[in-house]
Amino acid sequence: MRGSAVHFATMPDTQAHATPAPTLDLLIVGAGFAGLYLLYRARRLGLKARVIEAAAGVGGTWYHNRYPGARVDIQSLEYSFGFDEALQQDWHWSERYAAQAELLRYANHVTDRFGLRDGIQFNTRLAGAQFDEAAQGWQAWSDRGERWSARFLLLAAGPLSTPNQPDFPGLADFKGRVLHTAGWPEQAVDFNGHRVGVIGTGSSGVQSIPVIAEQAAVLTVFQRTATYAVPAHNGPLDPELEAAVKADYPGFRARNRKMMGGFGSMLPPNMFPAHSVSPEQREELFEARWRVGGFGLLGAFNDLILNPQSNELAGDFVRRKIRQTVHDPVTAEALCPTHPIGCKRLCVDTGYYTTFNRPNVHLVDLQKAPIEHFTPQGLVAGGVEHRLDTLVLATGFDAMTGTVLRMDLRGRGGVSIQDKWRAGPLNYLGMAVAGFPNLFNLVGPGSTSAVTNVIVAIEHQVNWITDCIADLRSRGLRTIEATAEAEQAYVAHVNTVAARTIYLNCNSWYLGANIAGKPRIFMPLFGFPAYVDKCDDVVRQGYEGFVLA
Ligand code: NAP
Repeated sequence: MRGSAVHFATMPDTQAHATPAPTLDLLIVGAGFAGLYLLYRARRLGLKARVIEAAAGVGGTWYHNRYPGARVDIQSLEYSFGFDEALQQDWHWSERYAAQAELLRYANHVTDRFGLRDGIQFNTRLAGAQFDEAAQGWQAWSDRGERWSARFLLLAAGPLSTPNQPDFPGLADFKGRVLHTAGWPEQAVDFNGHRVGVIGTGSSGVQSIPVIAEQAAVLTVFQRTATYAVPAHNGPLDPELEAAVKADYPGFRARNRKMMGGFGSMLPPNMFPAHSVSPEQREELFEARWRVGGFGLLGAFNDLILNPQSNELAGDFVRRKIRQTVHDPVTAEALCPTHPIGCKRLCVDTGYYTTFNRPNVHLVDLQKAPIEHFTPQGLVAGGVEHRLDTLVLATGFDAMTGTVLRMDLRGRGGVSIQDKWRAGPLNYLGMAVAGFPNLFNLVGPGSTSAVTNVIVAIEHQVNWITDCIADLRSRGLRTIEATAEAEQAYVAHVNTVAARTIYLNCNSWYLGANIAGKPRIFMPLFGFPAYVDKCDDVVRQGYEGFVLA
């Protein structure tokens, strides 16, 4: 299991002394979509860059999340790179929502198409890095003691890359197989004849449960919080839609960049509030979007994310759907969520609720029957022992900060990132951290990543960062560092924006609420176009909020 404990490989002694000039311009950590595009851009700008990647291959989240049913929740035509017209014309997605294997093929295609593979060192995990005041760059080292010196350190390790493995009492005694959706084995797992338990009903649980149910002898789903799932209506990609998008792909991308989430221009939100129409019209409008499928349901009205009363109407609509779908009324009631819809990321499903009509599938409501402990044969919840051969943890991630906080990062004066982020992840523009010059963290706290189409967010941040680095280089400047005032104001802004929405009204991973002891701070910024404007404005104002030296 990756990232289950904080363990620092210490900096080799010989490192303690500054080396005068960094040998790399950029050290990039991670070969997911962000790392790949960073390397592409760096090379085009003539920067010397190296990527290190802990896994044996590219793809980031799509490398690790191989669980059955894993697929993207944003339409494939949108969830793909837009930086190269020939790439987006040549690549053909087979399904409306691509599955993990196709996404991984795409990541490998991008890698080889642009000749990036030789710039990536696999099976190499960054253990730590220290800002070297004399060299004005970063000294970095791996868990095996390899070292690099680079002017800039670019963390592209992903916002959802450290699995959350809850510490259930007695789990170590369980004799069956334990799998985590975010660390799934490469070989297909055979559930035939197995008694399987799945803990967790977020996106990973919702996608895997229907597929596992088809194979398992018995599937028991352990649900702590009921989830809202909207139908994907997945299927082969419509050739007419593909042709229409490809006829003007740049225009399509540009329209998506104007959307709050950086996607969804095919079904833009209705620009009127939920209470401005009659109940019958409202039902029709919700219904029309339910028939289309995907996240568009939340665009049925323009105030569903802002107004709790309007939000409740959308929640009621989905609860009615659940009650119509699930035959057993007790199970249906337990599956009905009570928190605001959209407050936790909406799940896009294929057959999730109908799965509970299968005779081999059982739901355990952990609100009523909490997990007490594991035994060698299974787990005890609410006084009942559930015998299991295989346990699937679909328990999510230590999101947005977990991966960075497992690194031994030290900025000016040796201040650690753990100290810096003790009360929450201070950052400026979702990229920079005061006291940590020349470090950019991609799609992390303060970025729009988690509430957008992450590829759109990645392309924007990579362009901004690499343009900035090229600009500094052309002006003979060596460092860029956020000011403490700018980051305080920025984090306050992110939370002010969130406070205007329903995002603070549930225990989501956006708030760090899924991890015991994590500071409760809303981490992603809602609203992609305003974020782009802010980043542009910062440049226009001569990198306002940064000190350049
Ligand atoms: P998640 O949304 O955080 O869901 C984790 C689930 O595990 C929740 O139901 C949670 O319950 C439960 N859980 C956690 N700790 C538990 C404990 N100690 N006891 C019992 N239950 C526990 O994680 P995820 O499903 O992996 O998804 C995370 C994010 O990854 C998604 O929101 C999405 O952004 C991304 N993702 C996307 C896709 C896709 O469709 N493309 C697929 C998978 C993931 P609580 O709700 O009560 O905390």
